Amino acid sequence: MTDSTTSPLLVSTDPVLAEFAEDVGTSEPVAVAGGRTRWELGGALGPGTRIVTAPSGIVDYQPEEMTVRVRAGTSVAELHDELAAKGQRTGLPERGGTIGGALVVGENDYRCLGRGRLRETLLQVRYVSAEGLMVNSGGPTVKNVSGFDLPRLMVGSLGTLGLIAEVILRTNPIPAVSRWFCAAGADPGAVGEALLAPSAVLADGQQTWVELEGHGADVDEQAARLRTVGSFEVVDGPPSFPPHRWSLTPGQALEVDDAMLGDHVTIVGVGLVFASEPQPRRSIEPNIAIVSDRIKSNFDPTGRLNPGRNPAQK
Ligand SMILES: Cc1cc2nc3c(=O)[nH]c(=O)nc-3n(C[C@H](O)[C@H](O)[C@H](O)COP(=O)(O)OP(=O)(O)OC[C@H]3O[C@@H](n4cnc5c(N)ncnc54)[C@H](O)[C@@H]3O)c2cc1C
Repeated sequence: MTDSTTSPLLVSTDPVLAEFAEDVGTSEPVAVAGGRTRWELGGALGPGTRIVTAPSGIVDYQPEEMTVRVRAGTSVAELHDELAAKGQRTGLPERGGTIGGALVVGENDYRCLGRGRLRETLLQVRYVSAEGLMVNSGGPTVKNVSGFDLPRLMVGSLGTLGLIAEVILRTNPIPAVSRWFCAAGADPGAVGEALLAPSAVLADGQQTWVELEGHGADVDEQAARLRTVGSFEVVDGPPSFPPHRWSLTPGQALEVDDAMLGDHVTIVGVGLVFASEPQPRRSIEPNIAIVSDRIKSNFDPTGRLNPGRNPAQK
């Protein structure tokens, strides 16, 4: 059986991973600190929680396979610097955080239409379970993977189900050309219909911004299509975003207005809105709460992993 199957490792022969598992241990509350850019997200950490750090460093980069194996404590910026040397990048947001932090926080980049969503970016995860065991799930190629998709479950779990040690990520090429366009009064829905694959479509109710990426000739051709639905001009980049991040369904995100959010910028097709008002705490459907509680108690029966944090309250 190869490394790329969904078989659990349980005890790692890699000394770096084994040391991390030892740090996490088998009892007492414990959490991983990354770059602390989203440290209080989902609630304050329970008192007396021991803080550990995940290992860092790039283990194996295969540009031709478009995959990279990397330790979870590596900063996203450091990884992207390494990938850029081979003309590649990932869908992870580059805002001062670590790879493990970005994955468990689970916030898609606002350009995720072009860069890929976090759940699609994470191909394999190695995490330390509440019992202190090293668990391996997923794989770099789809054909080698069977069983429950744990990598997708880990994205957005806020470190409450397992502490991530190492991952394999999907990489994608940095396009030859990236260009932003903006028009007043253009219908974002019509933009989506006119274009094949924009990297981002943003709207604030008055203006619409679009990022087009690819080879120069393709970007020119898409720009010509774009101009059939509005008076789009090239601009330096996206608008500045209001401070509060709202997570909605893509349909709800299109219906929001100034009365609900104050000034806002909607990331069309993604279910993400940046607003001047904070998002009200969402109520969780009772059935979803029951399933979440069962998952948590199966993964972490004593509640020792990142106590105090609740992914549903992000
Ligand atoms: C100014 C600013 C702007 C931002 N803008 C964007 C944006 O536009 N788009 C976007 O997508 N994101 C954005 N972010 C979010 C940010 O980049 C990510 O959420 C960040 O990568 C989290 O990583 P971290 O290492 O800082 O996590 P931390 O803040 O250290 O930790 C966050 C949580 O994850 C847990 N954790 C960390 N590492 C692990 C691990 N290995 N295993 C298990 N649990 C772990 C921690 O215990 C904690 O609960 C922004 C952040 C800032 C500060």
